[in-house]
Amino acid sequence: MSEATDRQSTDRLAEVLRRIAEAARAAGRDPASVTLVAVSKTHGADRVRELLQAGQRVFGENRVQEAEGKFPALKAEYADLQLHLIGPLQTNKARDAVALFDVIESVDRERLAVTLAKEMERTGRRPDCYIQVNTGEEPQKAGVLPKDLDAFVASCRDVHKLPVVGLMCIPPVDEEPALHFGLLAKMAARNGLLKVSMGMSADYETAVRMGATHVRVGTALFGQRETHA
Ligand SMILES: *Cc1c(COP(=O)(O)O)cnc(C)c1O
Repeated sequence: MSEATDRQSTDRLAEVLRRIAEAARAAGRDPASVTLVAVSKTHGADRVRELLQAGQRVFGENRVQEAEGKFPALKAEYADLQLHLIGPLQTNKARDAVALFDVIESVDRERLAVTLAKEMERTGRRPDCYIQVNTGEEPQKAGVLPKDLDAFVASCRDVHKLPVVGLMCIPPVDEEPALHFGLLAKMAARNGLLKVSMGMSADYETAVRMGATHVRVGTALFGQRETHA
């Protein structure tokens, strides 16, 4: 990587972290209570390494196979690297996901919960799980419907014994995100879940104000993606 690109990534990281801290303080929250998940999908391992060198340790990928191509080597190099799966997970990829990811943010259906539980039992690896909620009730979008959430959380925790720690959402693009963030935070609190993953490049400060513990930021850190993944 050229020194120019290197500097740019580092500057962008500092800027995003500064804005997160500012939004947290404005909301009376401790900036340390918010974790930046750097979304590196479509970007190569060299771009990830720039941020690792600048101190960033938490990354997000939306495809298992793509993550398998770049993260095993980086994890070998940085033992404290934490990898979040933020995209839809097919049951036939559950085994690979449990092996590689430290957090799975997209648990959203019974069959996946069963498969993940079986795989965790088999391997002893227990990545933290978040339930993805389709707060906008969009037909094409993954996630549990709000009305089904409490029962699904209970089933994941009590029946399948999954380590469920939080909720995740991706609001509809054309709606005010704060309403969705507020709803997600409320549903997490109601279910005794401490982690709330919400907010992307366009709205992460709003998400922090609404109680996000994790914001997932790609474009604001790495620049525009060439493909829409
Ligand atoms: C790509 C992606 C992000 C990051 O989006 P940006 O707008 O680039 O910050 C966050 N969450 C999920 C689930 C994504 O797929």
